[in-house]
Amino acid sequence: MTGALGHARLLCSRLRNIKSLICNIIDCPVVVLCYHRVTSRLSDMNSVVVSPDNFRAQMDYVKRNFRIVRFEENWEQLDTPAVVVTFDDGYADNLTEALPILKEMGVPATFFITAGNIDARNEFWWDALERMLSGLGGYPARFSLQDSRHGREWPTLTAEDRVAMFRDMHSLFMSGTKEQRVEWLRQVVGWAGGNCPEAHINRLLTGDELRTLADNAEVTIGAHSVTHPRLSTLPEEEQRQEIVGSKTELEKLLGREITLFAYPFGKRADFDTTSARICNEAGYLKAAAAFQGEAHRWTDPYQIPRHFVYNWDLDRFIFKLKRLWV
Ligand SMILES: [Zn+2]
Repeated sequence: MTGALGHARLLCSRLRNIKSLICNIIDCPVVVLCYHRVTSRLSDMNSVVVSPDNFRAQMDYVKRNFRIVRFEENWEQLDTPAVVVTFDDGYADNLTEALPILKEMGVPATFFITAGNIDARNEFWWDALERMLSGLGGYPARFSLQDSRHGREWPTLTAEDRVAMFRDMHSLFMSGTKEQRVEWLRQVVGWAGGNCPEAHINRLLTGDELRTLADNAEVTIGAHSVTHPRLSTLPEEEQRQEIVGSKTELEKLLGREITLFAYPFGKRADFDTTSARICNEAGYLKAAAAFQGEAHRWTDPYQIPRHFVYNWDLDRFIFKLKRLWV
C-alpha cells in the first residue's frame, strides 16, 4: 500500500512539474521566494534559517541573473521571468542580518510582520518548542506527554531523538488548540528543566526596529495576522480580527497604508475562501500563500504561490531555480 501511495505521490508531483513548465513557457513566471530568518544560529529543527553567507550568495545570483521586482508591483507586463524576495514573521535578524545584505546587493524585499508580537516579547510556539529541545545535553531519557487523547512518549537522549520529537510535536501543535499548545509546552518546559538556550535567540522586531526597517527604500512592509493562527480553523469574525487588526496596527505604527498580506503557515489547508474575501474587503491588494508554484497573469492575487528557500549553498539554490524553466 505504502509503495502504491509513494508511486501515486511521485506521479502527482511529476504532473505538477509538467503543468508548471507548460505554464512558464506560455507566460513569463514570477517566482516569489519566501524566507524567514537569516542568522548563523546552529539549531534549525524547523528549517527556517538561512546563513548570512548562503543568503548573500543567493541574492547575488538572483541579482545577476533575473529581473527582480517588488511584491506590490503589477507583474502583468513582464516579458522575462522575474524574482520577488519576501520574509515572513518579523524576526529581529531581518533587520540586523538580512537588510545589510539586501542593501549591499540592491535587492528589494517585502517583510510580512505578525503584528501582535511587536514589543510584546512573545516567542512563537515552534521557537519555544525547539529551544527546549536544542540544549547541549543532560536531558532525561524520555518525555511523556500527559494528555487524555494525545498522550504519548518519546525517547529523548540523543539530539536525533529530540529532532524526531520536535517534528512529531510540531504536527501535534499545528492540529491543537491554543489552550492545548500552552499546556503541552508547559509540560515540555518542565521536562527540559532550564536545559536550553536563552529566548533572545528567537527575538522578534520591536516597534522601533520595525520603523527602522520600514524606512529603507528596499523595504516594503506587509501584514501577517495578529497572532499567527491557522485562519481556516477560525470563525469568520476571528479571521477578520486577525486580518484587519494586523493591517490597522501596522498602519498606526508606521503611518502608511499596508496593502499586502501573507497567510500564516500559508498552505492550502491553512486558509480558505473566507480569508481571501476578508483580505479583499479589508483593502489588501495581494495576499501571499506558501504552497509551491509561480505567479502568472491568471493567478488569483489573493493566493500567490511562493517557494520556500532553505539553507542551500549556491549550487543547490541554482539547481532549484533552474528546474522551474528547463
Ligand atoms: Zn509565518
